[in-house]
Amino acid sequence: MSNTDLSIASNAEILPIGEIAERAGIPADALELYGKYKAKIDVQALLPAARLGKVVLVTAISPTPAGEGKSTVTVGIADAFSQLKESVIVALREPSLGPVMGVKGGATGGGFAQVLPMEDINLHFTGDIHAITSANNALAAFIDNHLHQGNALQIDPRRITWKRALDMNDRALRQVTIGLGGPAQGVPRQDGFDITVASEIMAVLCLATSIEDLKERLAQMVIGYTYGKEPVTVRDLGVEGALALLLKEAFKPNLVQTIEGTPAIIHGGPFANIAHGCNSLMATNTARQLADIVVTEAGFGADLGAEKFMHIKSRKGGFHPDAVVIVATVRALKMHGGIAKGLLGEENPEAVRRGMVNLAKHVDTIRQFGIEPVVALNRFLTDSDAEIGEIMEWAAASGVQAALTNVWEQGGAGGLELAKLVKQELDRPTNFAPLYDETDAVEEKLQTIVQKVYGGAAVQLTDQAQKQLAELKKYGWDELPICMAKTQYSLSDQPKLLGRPEGFIVTIREIIPKLGAGFLVCLTGDIMTMPGLPKQPAALKMDVGPDGKAIGLF
Ligand code: ADP
Repeated sequence: MSNTDLSIASNAEILPIGEIAERAGIPADALELYGKYKAKIDVQALLPAARLGKVVLVTAISPTPAGEGKSTVTVGIADAFSQLKESVIVALREPSLGPVMGVKGGATGGGFAQVLPMEDINLHFTGDIHAITSANNALAAFIDNHLHQGNALQIDPRRITWKRALDMNDRALRQVTIGLGGPAQGVPRQDGFDITVASEIMAVLCLATSIEDLKERLAQMVIGYTYGKEPVTVRDLGVEGALALLLKEAFKPNLVQTIEGTPAIIHGGPFANIAHGCNSLMATNTARQLADIVVTEAGFGADLGAEKFMHIKSRKGGFHPDAVVIVATVRALKMHGGIAKGLLGEENPEAVRRGMVNLAKHVDTIRQFGIEPVVALNRFLTDSDAEIGEIMEWAAASGVQAALTNVWEQGGAGGLELAKLVKQELDRPTNFAPLYDETDAVEEKLQTIVQKVYGGAAVQLTDQAQKQLAELKKYGWDELPICMAKTQYSLSDQPKLLGRPEGFIVTIREIIPKLGAGFLVCLTGDIMTMPGLPKQPAALKMDVGPDGKAIGLF
């Protein structure tokens, strides 16, 4: 059998989850078993912590479509900390079935730096994402039923902003017409689907800190507007209790393990390009309660997940990263150096050197937040010494800390040097400060992100976005952080502008208030909240054997 992620995971020794819980200091009565290797944590049954753990945030350069190994390095560095006898927990996002069946693959790491049981986690896991889909679509059904039953709230069917959701890439559902077939079949209107990981309910679940907070956030979600253009909320419909009830189990963080037996908490899974891109606060807070070091990731490059971690998650959670790791790969740097996707396997140190501008920008970005990052060069077997040398020499010459990381091939042993560099940063205080205040004008917040994080010249709003902004101001919703929806491939809003583009203008197409999540989603470029599948989806390689085991899952 070739060494695929699945074959490595299937051959790995996996411990009963009770043993992992013991390692993590989770008492047996706080554990709700989902089979032998997965459990939910009843956070209310945990003992209060004397001190909270420090947070290592793993981010990356602007990636190739295959991903640069952020999850892999996150798991690997946690295993390295375990080998160094540190008390550590890794906190990750739950994979969405869209990328699993599409092109990007799952989110359970790779090689010998994976979380187990990989197959379960990548498929339906403990059902959290399905519960979020159900809650999302229950709300849609309650809205349509309200219209059908006389529409006491006078909701304008043309101004309903709540969409249905599905955890799959399904472009055919982006725009749909519902309620056809006559008076008994509901009120006809235009609707659409988002992928579940972009649903506001996913964000709410990830940012809520208690069941009460969850319910309150659900109640605040705006579902549309009346004929008089007044906002209608879930509270107006009176269904926040039902939605919270549907989410009560999904709200509990999930405990699993890495291949090396490090405890892993996996919970919540918003994408970082069209949502805020970090695992749940419940997961991170629980991990901080249990361990001295929590290693967590935020999706895509530092312009997306990390920026949102600093401005959204950190703010809501009342903490900030104590250290940041930026994952870089030779292949992505070659891509930023102008090499076509099909030729990234060929040795080309000059292209690596040209592409380094992308890494340099992400390093600058993290420094602007007052944190000194550590670069993890995630080594692929195909990388040449000359290519690796380019990056390490650049780092030494520019005063950037960097470690060559071999966790995919060696597990924690391949991340020891990285872990030691990160530990030094954890032992030093940071000067963390967000780049904007929530009270800044929306235009100012957008400009700060575009200029300081993306390195662009300016931001412009379409007429529609201007109109939406005026409405936001009218309702007093403008003092919220921004959740940019932007391509992950470029620092700009144009996927083909690789490297470190300059002088570009980012266009905000739409501004969508998400009052339950507590942020304003700003759509740029042609980014979609329901992705499509590629011509050759990963699904074509998948199967299940007569023994019920997965085949071809990466
Ligand atoms: P990200 O979190 O940045 O999206 P992942 O950690 O999910 O990236 O990795 C994406 C894919 O790349 C996985 O299938 C993983 O096995 C593979 N991968 C990551 N690092 C390496 C490496 N050093 N060598 C070979 N394959 C790797």
